[in-house]
Amino acid sequence: MNKNDIDYKVCSKCDAPLPNSKGRLDYFNSDPNICDDCHILLDHEG
Ligand SMILES: [Zn+2]
Repeated sequence: MNKNDIDYKVCSKCDAPLPNSKGRLDYFNSDPNICDDCHILLDHEG
């Protein structure tokens, strides 16, 4: 088994590479290009 099989994706908002692995670590649940953290901030900003 490969421990480093997590896919990473760069958020178009904060430019941070974040895990995008289906069913496990996934930071792109709300938007395929913007991480959930940024998506929450965008929601608060309106
Ligand atoms: Zn982000």
